[in-house]
Amino acid sequence: MSKASTLVIQTAFLGDVVLTTPLLSALAADHGPVDVVTTPIAGPLLETHPAVRRVIPYDKRGSDRGWAGIRILARQLKAEQYQRAYLPHRSLRTAAVALLARIPSRIGFSGGWSFLYTEARPKPSVGHESDRLLALANEAPGVYPPQLRPTAADEQAAAALIEGAFIALAPGSIWGSKRWPYYAELAAELAEHVAVVVVGGPDDVEFGDAIVQAVRPSRGGEGGHAVNACGRLTLRQSAALIGKAAVLVTNDSAPLHLATAMGTPIVALFGPTVTEFGFGPLHAGDVALGVDALQCRPCSAHGPPECPLGHHRCLRELTVAAVIAAIEELGALRRRR
Ligand code: SF4
Repeated sequence: MSKASTLVIQTAFLGDVVLTTPLLSALAADHGPVDVVTTPIAGPLLETHPAVRRVIPYDKRGSDRGWAGIRILARQLKAEQYQRAYLPHRSLRTAAVALLARIPSRIGFSGGWSFLYTEARPKPSVGHESDRLLALANEAPGVYPPQLRPTAADEQAAAALIEGAFIALAPGSIWGSKRWPYYAELAAELAEHVAVVVVGGPDDVEFGDAIVQAVRPSRGGEGGHAVNACGRLTLRQSAALIGKAAVLVTNDSAPLHLATAMGTPIVALFGPTVTEFGFGPLHAGDVALGVDALQCRPCSAHGPPECPLGHHRCLRELTVAAVIAAIEELGALRRRR
C-alpha cells in the first residue's frame, strides 16, 4: 500500500465524522486518498469510503485517553511522514497530536488552539456543517456531498432483516431532550399501512422493543409489521439499512446524517435545537419539523439531558399527525382508507 501524503484528524461525534466526508473527498481529489484518525465507532464507516486510504482508530475516551495516548498516537503518525494534516475538530487534543507528530503543514479553523497550526482558515458561521467543514479545503458549498459506501456484505445483512418497502424510525439520541416521545404511537399508525423498522445501536434496544410492542396489538394481517433492528447490525450495516428505507424519521442525531449520506428521504424532528445550527437535512425535499412558536427554542447547542423547564413542549407539541403528514408529503406513505 503506497503512503498517503495527507492526514485528517476527526475525533468528534459520529454525525460530525459523517459530515466530514465531503472534506475527505475534496482532499483526495487534490492529494490522493487520505488517512484519517477517528474514533473506533466511526472508523468502519470511513474504511470503505473511496477517499480514504486507511483509518487509524483513536479511542480518546478509552484505551488511548490522556497525554500518554496522545504521545503514542503522535509517534505512530510521525513515522508516516505526512506532508499535511487537516484538523476540522477544534480541540487541544487534535492540535497537540498533529504538532507532536511533526507534520509540517497543519491546517485548521481559526480560534481555539489555532496558534498551534501552521495555517488557520475561517470557518463559515452559516450554512450546513458539511459545507462549513468542506471550507477547510477552500472548496465551495455543495461540490462534494456527504457519502458513505457500505459493502455488498453490509447490504446483504441489512436486506436479511426486512423485505420490501419500509419506513425507518430512529428514536435514540445521547441527549434525552432531543428524543421525540411519540415514536411508538407513530409506529402503530404507520404499521397499519407499511412495514416499520427501528434503527439504532445497542443503547436503543429498549426504545426499539417498546415501539415494536406498540405495533403488535394493532396487527390484523393487514398493513405492515415492525422490526427492531437496534443493536443487531454494525454501523455500516445500519447505514445500508437506512439506505433502503422509503424515509427515515429521526431526531436531530447521527442517523439523520447517515440518511443524508445514503440519499434517503428524511423527516427530522427538532426540539431543543434548530436547523440553523447547520445539522439539519441537506437534500431538497427533506423535511425538518419543529415547534416554531416556542420562546425557549433553541435552548442549547447540543440539547440538554432533560428539558430545563420541565415541560419539554418543543417535542411534546410535535404531533404524530404532523409527522405522518410530512411522510405523506414525501410520497413514502399511501394510507388505505
Ligand atoms: S427549554 Fe424549551 S427548547 Fe429546551 S428542552 Fe425545554 S421545551 Fe425544549
